[in-house]
Amino acid sequence: MLFLDELSELSRSALKALREPLEEHSVIIVRGGRCSTHPARFLLLAATNPCRCGHAGESDRCRCSDSDLARYARKGSGPLLDRLDLRVELPPAPIQRLRERGGINSARARELVHEARERQVACSLRGGARNAVHSERALRSVARPDARGQELLERALAGGMLSARGALRLLRAASTIADVSACERVGADNIASALALRCAHGAPAALAI
Ligand SMILES: [Zn+2]
Repeated sequence: MLFLDELSELSRSALKALREPLEEHSVIIVRGGRCSTHPARFLLLAATNPCRCGHAGESDRCRCSDSDLARYARKGSGPLLDRLDLRVELPPAPIQRLRERGGINSARARELVHEARERQVACSLRGGARNAVHSERALRSVARPDARGQELLERALAGGMLSARGALRLLRAASTIADVSACERVGADNIASALALRCAHGAPAALAI
């Protein structure tokens, strides 16, 4: 796992260099006229503040100029973002909410992941492979959505919410969500969940299922 904190503070060239290993799962190093290829399959986890001071959207606290905000927005978009399957916006949490500890705990989350991986490996159609390593062709075969799911996916593509690459990544995430939920087939609910996780502000109402 590669964890990059303060992603927006990294140089443009460093962010650009991440694209190839994210897409090809390998890196090519060229030195002294020689070229060697090395495996580089990894899980990328990145975090960034909404702006340099961390208070964008809180008009009384954010001290950033308009150009600073625009620079941050530019860094947090584009080709690299298109290669991130899940994006989660974390609004400031009141202290009371931090104390409440709702939702599932880490032990239960681990169980769910383990069960989903076992489902993927046990599925004869997938040849023992996990969703993360399927080729595009194999993924389109094993993760074919049902009719409503396909319609939702096509509407998101037609509406410009997804690139062709993004649609494939969304299908991979939706298939994993279906596995975690023990669904036999990728349905509209799974596509909608993956869309909401891909678009930081959730799927537009027009795409509601
Ligand atoms: Zn700020």
